[in-house]
Amino acid sequence: MVHIFCLDENCRRVIHLGNHKHWNFKGKVKCLKCGAEMEVEIKNGELRSSRGFKGK
Ligand SMILES: [Zn+2]
Repeated sequence: MVHIFCLDENCRRVIHLGNHKHWNFKGKVKCLKCGAEMEVEIKNGELRSSRGFKGK
């Protein structure tokens, strides 16, 4: 399982990516708490980069 943190400063919720497809994944994920979207790149279960989107 891959864990990333929500990039929203007021949220910072841990987002669990339980699906094995996220082990190698590049694309958008959405925080279930605040709805913020971010683009992440995960390689071999390791977060390589994450970038937030302005606006919700
Ligand atoms: Zn959030």
